[in-house]
Amino acid sequence: MCGIVGYIGTRQATEVCLAGLKRLEYRGYDSAGIAVIVDGELEVVKVVGKLAALADELEETPLDGTLGIGHTRWATHGKPSKANSHPHVSGDGRIALVHNGIIENYAELRDRLQEEGFEFASETDTEVIVHLVDRYYEGDLAAAFRRAVQDLEGAFAVGIVCADAPDQMIAARRFSPLVVGIGDGENWIASDMGAVREWTDQVYVIDDDEMAVITRDGIELTDLEGNPVAREPYTVPWPADAAEKGGHKHFMHKEIHEQPRAMRECLLGRLTDPEKAITLEGLNMTEEEIGSLRKVVFTACGTAFHAGLVGRFLMEKLARIPSECDLAAELRARDPVVLDDTLAIIVSQSGETADTLVALRELKEKGARVVSVVNVVDSSIARESDGWTAR
Ligand code: GLU
Repeated sequence: MCGIVGYIGTRQATEVCLAGLKRLEYRGYDSAGIAVIVDGELEVVKVVGKLAALADELEETPLDGTLGIGHTRWATHGKPSKANSHPHVSGDGRIALVHNGIIENYAELRDRLQEEGFEFASETDTEVIVHLVDRYYEGDLAAAFRRAVQDLEGAFAVGIVCADAPDQMIAARRFSPLVVGIGDGENWIASDMGAVREWTDQVYVIDDDEMAVITRDGIELTDLEGNPVAREPYTVPWPADAAEKGGHKHFMHKEIHEQPRAMRECLLGRLTDPEKAITLEGLNMTEEEIGSLRKVVFTACGTAFHAGLVGRFLMEKLARIPSECDLAAELRARDPVVLDDTLAIIVSQSGETADTLVALRELKEKGARVVSVVNVVDSSIARESDGWTAR
């Protein structure tokens, strides 16, 4: 997983991108980078390590500009290194791009581009995208990008800027999450709403195979063929400081100390009166449907997987329903037996965990009813579940 962010407006792009990336650090932190258009030229700063290292580097090398994109990386292709970190840049240094996802046909595209004379500076799958855009670029960045994206197989949320187009930022997605933050004379892109919430509560949630051409004063949404897409802005329902570390040294420390409060908040409004039944509104299931369940499958990655193991234990002990807990990445390989009376419980803090989202889709396709436990309302996992609950 990686986090992407971008800004076009009147503020310093590095400040906005750095603040946005801090909110996305949960998505990856092996390296980071920023590209800003400075006086019509593209300037890039990249570092190996956490965002703090990028902030230090930017103190040394300030980039003065109001259009920029940033990235915090968790590598999938190519080790964490300066060369492999994003933004990736075209050979002439005019186009820069950040990417979250995996380009599955990158080897084939890379061979093709190398035959045509494009030189690669990294070992990533991502770099093919920037060279493809460069290859198709004839003065219209949006047209070149649209054409390039059509060659891609796999998952991507991409943000792109070009020194020749200092008033434009372009983004598109397939499978990886992407939102466009809506401002007044300024706009943002980001992997999730938390990264832009400090400045705006209005966002467009971009869907698969959609693209956004963004200027300071406008956002144009289209599909990948260029047909306009109509979308209502979404109002983020939670306050700007909801994702802060709250004075703790790091997030793990915060989460450990938050557990009593988190439990209380989880039950608040759901367990109102000890005499009354528990209310789980988001579940979207009738008592009969709950009563007819014969199997529960918990699915998650990392820490959430361990929460699932506890969930499985409690489900069997208290509800007496046979339960399993799967690592999301392994679920597909196992080809699990899923019947109509199976409930899948998907657990993900961010609601954007890529392997967990794939498992969710697999379970749904096989006929399971899917509910999720997430920390982020309106995250991809919450939106694709039949029901969800968040704290
Ligand atoms: N595949 C890209 C890389 O390795 C992006 C990583 C990701 O989004 O997880 O740099």
